[in-house]
Amino acid sequence: MQDRERRRNNASQHSETELPSALKRAATMTEIVKLLNSDEPVENIMHRVLALIGGYLDITHGFVGHLHRQEDSSARGSEAPGGADGDDRIDYYVQWAIGSKRPLFEDPQDRERGWFLRYDKPLYVSFHTELSEEKRKQLDDIGLTAIAVLPLFLNGQIAFYVCFGETRRHRDFNSDEMSFMEDAVRILESILMRRIQRNSLASSFASLEAILDNVGSSVYVRDLKTNCILFANQSLRENFARELQEGTLTTLFEDPNKKTPSGSSREIFHEARNSWYELYQTEINWVDGSPVSLFAIHDITEKKRYQNKIEIQAYTDFLTGLYNRMCCERDLGRYLEETVRNGTKGGLFYIDLDDFKHINDGLGHQYGDILLQSISHSIRDIDGIHNSCYRMGGDEFVIIVPPASYEHFDRILREVKDVFARPWFLKDADYYCTMSMGTIEFPTDGTSVDDVIRKADIAMYEAKKSGKNRVAAYSENLTSVSARRLDMEKSMRDAADQGYEEFEVFYQPIMDITMEGSPCVGAEALIRWNSSQMGFLTPTEFIPLAEYLGLINPIGNYVAEQACTQCRLWNDMGADNFHINVNLSVVQLLQNDIVEVVQNAIRTSGIKPGNLTLEVTESLAINDLDRTKDILERIKALGVRLALDDFGTGYSSLNNIRVLPFDIIKVDQNFVKDLAEDNYSQSFIRMVAELGEAIGAEICVEGIETRSQYRILEGMHVRYIQGFYFNQPLSREEFEALYIAKGKEKPRLKK
Ligand code: C2E
Ligand code: MG
Ligand code: MG
Repeated sequence: MQDRERRRNNASQHSETELPSALKRAATMTEIVKLLNSDEPVENIMHRVLALIGGYLDITHGFVGHLHRQEDSSARGSEAPGGADGDDRIDYYVQWAIGSKRPLFEDPQDRERGWFLRYDKPLYVSFHTELSEEKRKQLDDIGLTAIAVLPLFLNGQIAFYVCFGETRRHRDFNSDEMSFMEDAVRILESILMRRIQRNSLASSFASLEAILDNVGSSVYVRDLKTNCILFANQSLRENFARELQEGTLTTLFEDPNKKTPSGSSREIFHEARNSWYELYQTEINWVDGSPVSLFAIHDITEKKRYQNKIEIQAYTDFLTGLYNRMCCERDLGRYLEETVRNGTKGGLFYIDLDDFKHINDGLGHQYGDILLQSISHSIRDIDGIHNSCYRMGGDEFVIIVPPASYEHFDRILREVKDVFARPWFLKDADYYCTMSMGTIEFPTDGTSVDDVIRKADIAMYEAKKSGKNRVAAYSENLTSVSARRLDMEKSMRDAADQGYEEFEVFYQPIMDITMEGSPCVGAEALIRWNSSQMGFLTPTEFIPLAEYLGLINPIGNYVAEQACTQCRLWNDMGADNFHINVNLSVVQLLQNDIVEVVQNAIRTSGIKPGNLTLEVTESLAINDLDRTKDILERIKALGVRLALDDFGTGYSSLNNIRVLPFDIIKVDQNFVKDLAEDNYSQSFIRMVAELGEAIGAEICVEGIETRSQYRILEGMHVRYIQGFYFNQPLSREEFEALYIAKGKEKPRLKK
């Protein structure tokens, strides 16, 4: 009775308005629920909840026990401590007391864990509850007559014990109160859970930020829905402050027209900064779960510069500074694409220097290099092809006429030709270096890189074969020509392997018109090839290839031996002073052992050296006069005579002829063609004849086909004559029958 009265008094003392219990309960619960959204520290919230529950229960004390492990100090203060077992200690985390009462524990930290703090279900102990003496004593020691203990679970483990104790009077907990407490604690649980999640969100964001600040690249995160920049790391804030401020970051790095797949990276050139960036983009869920794009930007300018340097090195010909074959193929690929795409056209010139080997071997590589460099500079200077000249290796060049310059195709072609029409000044003298060039148009004549280059090469070879120093345009039928060239190459190698027996020497008579009756005094040995695979071939058809393949040396030696042996036989047959003329290719002449080769031919055949005449073409005379002179003098020292062949077709200056030890000058048949009508031809031959007389060389005119041509030459100081007018080159047997077999009765000139 007294109790009830006191409680009523108490209640009236502590609540300003008497509310019906249910209403009060609802009001209190609402207050507690409101705390769900509170930003206050957890301790404050707990204190507030204790006060609200305590006030409702009209109980003297409330406190929260928080487990911690003695030996594991790192767990101290953690929000979700371990389980309820073991000899754990307790911190009384938050304490509340009604009115002006003092809190229960003056020293709340690291207390012994009471027996009542060991259950995973709510525990209610009233004054009446039967307890062991030990247990009751523990409560008495704290000063409590009754206690309610509610375990608070976080993440499935007991994190706190929420306790309410009464110090004033004997106290019972009715079921209403019990369920109220349990509901309230469950709400507190929710508040704490939310708080933990929010904290872990904040802490994970903080650690993410720390990580992103420390990565080497600049990073920003853009919200995919709002397009707002949600985050920019320190590096980005420093390096792209302006763009960030002006909001131009996305225009710089993102292409609104292109949807880049997540996880892709690309390289971007920033013109204003003159910098290269690699942009890595990936789509992720941001810490708050929203879909975002994360961009990581690396400055790769240095890497690019290095790459560029390497690329330039890889694409440049070291010697000439032109681009190389690799670059040519790359560029041609691009130009081809461009022409196909835009319906435009481009051109390609394939250039091979004529007889570059002579300059290289004659003057030395050093001068060969200078020549290549000079040529490179000159062609690169031509308007329209500054950036498309390539050295393909050795003495081969390619010039691409890009689509943009295609309208100047003819002008460029002319200027390239002009480059080679002038002499080069090397080692104190002027040297001519001609070239053979193949031209092609693309994509009309070829649509792939290989195709275009191969066809231009075929055209170039055509130019070379038809006499060098000229230009040939590619045409479809050249392809069959090139197939023929390949067949010929194979056949020639086979013929060489089989001892050169397919090669046959023919003989063309040479007449001395200063002698009575113009008798045949010698023959020019001219090679023929009876190829088992290709049929009968004349030297103009296969000698350029033999020179190109280097096979001219063994073939030439074979001819020399055959011809010398034959001449020796004819001499033995009675034509004592009968001469044989053997042609030497420049390639042969520049062999180091050419003097020994000639010596050998003389020795093995037993020919009188004076009966052998070696014919060398004019082209050799122009390059490296000293070396040419030296070789010719050593050959001449063997007692052999020397003839300068095809005079009038090349570049040799008259001065060179004066210096070189020629016994005979053979005027090219071109000057004979129009001899009957053309004054120039006549005066040219007369002039050469006079020159020959002055330097003590005989003149031989080739290609006499008619009687009138022959007549004109009489009285011109010309000694020897050769031509179809007398006879075509004949087989050994024919020649012998016609000019030798009759013994001392030499065949006479037909009248
Ligand atoms: P080449 O030394 O100037 O020889 C003269 C060429 O003119 C020969 O052509 C000959 O058949 C031809 N010919 C002679 N008289 C007349 C004529 O009245 N009218 C015309 N239209 N042509 C005439 P071939 O035999 O076809 O030889 C061509 C060239 O091949 C030679 O020109 C020579 O430079 C080269 N050659 C021939 N045999 C050899 C050889 O064994 N070694 C080397 N290295 N070259 C050779
Ligand atoms: Mg000749
Ligand atoms: Mg000739």
